[in-house]
Amino acid sequence: MTETGSIDEQRIASVRENVKIIRERIRQAAVRAGRAPDSVRFMAVTKTVEPAYINAAIDEGVDLIGENKVQEFLGKKDALRLDGVETHLIGHLQTNKVNKIVGQVDMIQSVDSLNLARAVDRRSEALGIVTPVLVEVNIGGEENKTGLDRALLDELLAEMAQMRHIAVQGLMTIPPVSDDPAATRSFFSQMHQLFVDIGDKKRDNIKMNILSMGMSGDYEDAIACGSNLVRVGSAIFGARIYP
Ligand SMILES: *Cc1c(COP(=O)(O)O)cnc(C)c1O
Repeated sequence: MTETGSIDEQRIASVRENVKIIRERIRQAAVRAGRAPDSVRFMAVTKTVEPAYINAAIDEGVDLIGENKVQEFLGKKDALRLDGVETHLIGHLQTNKVNKIVGQVDMIQSVDSLNLARAVDRRSEALGIVTPVLVEVNIGGEENKTGLDRALLDELLAEMAQMRHIAVQGLMTIPPVSDDPAATRSFFSQMHQLFVDIGDKKRDNIKMNILSMGMSGDYEDAIACGSNLVRVGSAIFGARIYP
């Protein structure tokens, strides 16, 4: 353990090494899936990570970071070298935090209700911007989990298509935790099917450009199943130690 505030040079080196290794594995997984090596975006998930280590990943070429919590992101933002780096909110967003985060990130990946979509739309309108969003799907139909039930997806997208200050760019998911890679792959494949089916409908203002799925333990499987944005945290920065 290191003291808070002191910088662990070994950890910096390992972050940089991990970024290189994972980037290469992503490229190879894309090629195995018959896609272009650079067709999958690589997000570094930075929750609980101190700015020095996030900046090390950025120095190694990471150009997309994801944070879970509004307050944590806003607290760290000024210490990050964000020039040329996109930032996405990926954690559950409460409607009462919407005004704080809209305009501060490049995308919100975790829109999962009509209320939330409306709040993001309203705030974006007030700021004179259009906020790119993904709809988070609870593909495993788990209780007490964030994400929209897939049965409600069409209805929500129909409403979101009418909103002029959000732009739906795709879907995001966190599949159920499982020891069985085949089960996880099945959820990834179901998500890919939804992504393709919705894209085929070609609704106004509903684009299916981004399918965000795959984390440290399963990003290669996710890519095999059609993911084009993987969200990797602990494989870069090490296991998270929650206070
Ligand atoms: C924490 C988190 C990740 C990254 O998880 P790891 O297993 O550490 O790679 C990805 N997506 C979301 C939404 C997360 O909260």
